[in-house]
Amino acid sequence: MQQQILDILQRVIHPESGENIVAAGFVAGIADDAGTITVTLRFRKPRDPFAASIRRQCEQLLAQEIPSAEVKVEIEQPQKPQQTEKKSFADKIGKVIAVASGKGGVGKSTVTANLAAALARSGYRIGILDADIYGPSQPKMFGCEDAAPEARSIDGTDAIIPVTVAGGIKLMSLGFFVGRDDAMLWRGPMATSALRQLVHQTLWGELDFLLIDLPPGTGDVHLSIISELRIDGAVIVSTPQQVAVADVIRGVAMFRNPSVNIPLLGIIENMAWFTPAELPQNRYYIFGREGAVKFAAENGIEVLGQIPVIESVAQSSDDGCPVAAGDSPTAEYYLTAARRVVEKCSQNP
Ligand code: ADP
Repeated sequence: MQQQILDILQRVIHPESGENIVAAGFVAGIADDAGTITVTLRFRKPRDPFAASIRRQCEQLLAQEIPSAEVKVEIEQPQKPQQTEKKSFADKIGKVIAVASGKGGVGKSTVTANLAAALARSGYRIGILDADIYGPSQPKMFGCEDAAPEARSIDGTDAIIPVTVAGGIKLMSLGFFVGRDDAMLWRGPMATSALRQLVHQTLWGELDFLLIDLPPGTGDVHLSIISELRIDGAVIVSTPQQVAVADVIRGVAMFRNPSVNIPLLGIIENMAWFTPAELPQNRYYIFGREGAVKFAAENGIEVLGQIPVIESVAQSSDDGCPVAAGDSPTAEYYLTAARRVVEKCSQNP
């Protein structure tokens, strides 16, 4: 039967190439199941202008030549380019967590680095993708600004080796590919294509968690990352004072948008209060009190942690070793938040 069908289909010519569709390799499959013949056509171009008329011709000819059978001719939809284009090395990652903020300067990158350090200390295999095109600061936080990730060919696919930093964390950052003093002048498409490459070509190996340090706000980079990677959850970082402003609300709406639909794991309130070294019992709510707690309650979001303003947090970042990697009491704030992140992730399998 297959041969008979092929013989019939050979009479259909593609008008552009002049070849018959069998010789041209457009017949991707023939199934003959209890009197129903299903022919699958696969064209070279994603939107071949002759596809519909060729399909009709096939149906007519087959119906005419094999009247006893029911005939179905299907056109195989082209796969998304990223699936056919290149192999991705991002396939051995347990959970992907995006860290977002409404505005810059609220401590999103610091929280990302410290969460990563806290998770690594807890025994998880961690990667960080620094996707903050406006100021990729992870290399500085981990003291490896001068690192140059090595490229290698793995089974014919170009792979970029991430930089291994404190706690065995694998770090990949746009910052490795631009000079330290270069202004970040990424334009939308340039940034998104560079990031797409970093997402898929970084040889992450096996990871339990990949944290993505997103740019502040909501934009092209967010949509691009969301479409490239399966993101399991989002964490929003905010100061008490910034939390209720429109940017954070937009961020929440972006993740909750039905077409995006990424579970919001919760908010981390950064710079929640200030405690001077000489008055360790005192808490000064310099940026407002419990703004994130109120916002979270009103929006059905959880507060995953509160981090005070602590000089050593900023100092450690400047020194290239996140405070959560060390043994100071400050690390405890991040370890607590990291535990909540893990718990929330396991509730969203
Ligand atoms: P973002 O990524 O949101 O732009 P950063 O993480 O770069 O913000 O933080 C902005 C500045 O605030 C940095 O200088 C950082 O060291 C400092 N910072 C962040 N969190 C704290 C904190 N809890 N205590 C003290 N300084 C902090």
